[in-house]
Amino acid sequence: MEHALSPGLYIVATPIGNLGDITLRAIEVLGAADVVACEDTRVTGKLLNHLGLKKRMVRYDDYADDASRERLLAAMRERPVALVSDAGTPLISDPGYRLVRAAREEGIAVTSLPGPSAAVLGLTLSGLPNDRFLFAGFLPGKAKAREDVLRELADVPATLVFYETAPRLLDALGAIGSVLPAREVAVARELTKRFEECRHGSPGDIAEHYRAHPPKGEIVLLVGPPVDVPPDAADADGLLREALVTEKPSQAAARVAKATGLDRKALYARALELK
Ligand code: SAM
Repeated sequence: MEHALSPGLYIVATPIGNLGDITLRAIEVLGAADVVACEDTRVTGKLLNHLGLKKRMVRYDDYADDASRERLLAAMRERPVALVSDAGTPLISDPGYRLVRAAREEGIAVTSLPGPSAAVLGLTLSGLPNDRFLFAGFLPGKAKAREDVLRELADVPATLVFYETAPRLLDALGAIGSVLPAREVAVARELTKRFEECRHGSPGDIAEHYRAHPPKGEIVLLVGPPVDVPPDAADADGLLREALVTEKPSQAAARVAKATGLDRKALYARALELK
C-alpha cells in the first residue's frame, strides 16, 4: 500500500482548548497516518471527527505492556504512526517517552510536529522572565513532598513552570508562600478557552484572590526566579507580615532572612514589633 508519508513515528501536538489551534501539518499527518496512537480513543475520536478524518486508533500510554509497544513499533517500521495525547504536546506530562525512546533505539525515524503546549503558553503570557525557565510538571499532591520539591528548586535561577489542577491550586500557593515567600507568581488558567485569564502577584495576594473566587478549569502555575536585589525595609516588612499570619516571629524572621539575605536578628526584632 502506498503512503504519502514515510514510515516512522510522528508526534503530533493537538489543541489545548481552542480547536482552531490545530496546525495544517497536524491535519496532514493525522490524515496520512496509518494508525493514531492516543491516550483515550473517545477524546481523540472527537478531534478526528471534527477534522473529518476516520482513522484506526489504538490506546497507548507509557504503562502499556511491552507487547503493545512492540506492536506499535512493528507498525511504524512499515507505515506512518501518529502519536497524540488528549490535548497539547505528547510527552510533556503526557505519555510517549517510552515509545519515543524505544523507536530511537531501534533506528525508527521519529518526527515531532510543533504545536500547542500549555507550559509554553503560560510562560509567554505570564510576564515573568523567560530567558531561562524550568518546567517541573505537576507538584506532588502531598504537603511534605510538595514543599520538598519547592525547596529543591529554590535556588534555580530560572522561572519555574508547573502544571496544576484547580482543586489543588490553593495548597500549592500556600506552599510557595511559605517556602518562597519573596517570589512573584503567575496563574495562567483556561488558556485558549472562553474564560482564559492570567494573574500575577505575590503568593499571598494570588491565594487571597482564589480563596474569594475558587478557580475552575486547567492551570499553569509559574514562579519567578530568585531576585538578587536586596529588598529594602518596606519589602521586608511586607514579607514578615505575610509570614506572621501563619508563623511565630522567630520562624517568620528565619524564613524572610533566608529569602532576602537580610540579618535574621534584625528581622526578628522587627517581627516582634509588627506582631
Ligand atoms: N501535554 C499537555 C501540554 O503540552 O500542554 C499537558 C498535559 S497535562 C496531563 C494537563 C495539564 O496541562 C493540566 O492539568 C494543566 O495544568 C495544563 N493545561 C492543559 N491545558 C490547559 C489550558 N487550556 N490552560 C491551562 N493549563 C492547561
